[in-house]
Amino acid sequence: MTTPPAPVPSRVLVLNSGSSSVKYQLLDMGDGARLAVGLVERIGERTSRLVHTPGDGGEPRERTEPIADHEAALKAVAEELAADGLGLDSPELAAIGHRVVHGGLKFTAPTVVDDEVLAEIERLVPVAPLHNPANVVGIRTARALRPDLPQVAVFDTAFHTTMPESAARYAIDVETADAHRIRRYGFHGTSHAYVSRETAKLLGKDPAEVNVIVLHLGNGASASAVAGGRCVDTSMGLTPLEGLVMGTRSGDVDPAVTFHLKRVAGMSTDEIDVLLNKKSGLVGLCGDNDMREIRRRIDEGDERARLAFEIYVHRLKKYIGAYYAVLGRVDAVAFTAGVGENAAFVREAAIAGLEELGLVVDGELNAERSSRARIVSPVYARVAVAVVPTDEELEIARQTFDLVSANSLA
Ligand code: ADP
Repeated sequence: MTTPPAPVPSRVLVLNSGSSSVKYQLLDMGDGARLAVGLVERIGERTSRLVHTPGDGGEPRERTEPIADHEAALKAVAEELAADGLGLDSPELAAIGHRVVHGGLKFTAPTVVDDEVLAEIERLVPVAPLHNPANVVGIRTARALRPDLPQVAVFDTAFHTTMPESAARYAIDVETADAHRIRRYGFHGTSHAYVSRETAKLLGKDPAEVNVIVLHLGNGASASAVAGGRCVDTSMGLTPLEGLVMGTRSGDVDPAVTFHLKRVAGMSTDEIDVLLNKKSGLVGLCGDNDMREIRRRIDEGDERARLAFEIYVHRLKKYIGAYYAVLGRVDAVAFTAGVGENAAFVREAAIAGLEELGLVVDGELNAERSSRARIVSPVYARVAVAVVPTDEELEIARQTFDLVSANSLA
């Protein structure tokens, strides 16, 4: 009697560890199935909560119990997966893919985590104090649970490491900049990579032939200029504060605003940090950061909401124009993330008046609600306007799986 062949591991668990939360997805890279999706939030508080949804659109299960730390959170996730026969001990699990926010200049591609890699991610904490510590804890915990399994770090900054020095350097004293690793790194790279590739697919072209401006408009927001599949500029910088107007972040401001707040308003560095990161952007301008609410208020004649919207759109337009000039030729402008995918009125306002650049939206196509990637410009338009739902988890799983598959063949 012959024993059946052992299953080829094709599943990837994707972990996105934040300071008080862990988001996760289990994907099968063989057939593309999403086997589980979940979230643990308020880790370390008495009101922690785990919501686990099996399969594509299964019935969600909720656990409300104090979850003390990331280790307890991952153990709870492992239990939920095991309850559906998808435990971390499954031989079909090929790897765990971790979202890591900051990879500095060193990590230009997904990387299998060893002690040295983990130490380097920790060395980057000073440039990503809000994100990298949680990412490190997530990796450590997962390694302890499955020390034999490849753990892969997928960096938010990696896609942007192709930016030329002319785009990545700030025009400040070179020695000071280098001593403190001050340069423009960019973030949301996994999304920009995925969306630019999917946009090329939508146009029926090879990514190497296509120039795309990607507008990732979520609560955090960033734009990128992608030439032939490589990022040549992006709007976020040393930190995710630079660039577009966001939900709670200011985006671009004159750096002298910070000296002014210190010298004239007597604010501390930490207070200014909170002001620009948490109390600015749409929330600072009108008190709301949800575009649906802003739209509702505008419809009721609220002037503050209207002005906030106009400032948001003005900045967006400036970046479209700037990246058009950087790229020279543009094949598509792709909108993605919560606002980009859902707010037709934002897309319409951002593209309005850009006919001379070949940019137009078709009112009807743009107003259609759909979760599919689609073109919303008329067929005659010189430049396509696309709506491309982002899928950072799928991209992390793909990059993780490709790396471990290549390593196992080597
Ligand atoms: P995050 O940056 O937290 O991942 P998302 O990409 O999920 O954010 O985007 C969240 C934002 O998307 C919300 O704050 C809201 O402004 C916007 N949004 C979500 N759904 C809609 C909608 N139907 N219409 C307009 N805006 C929406």
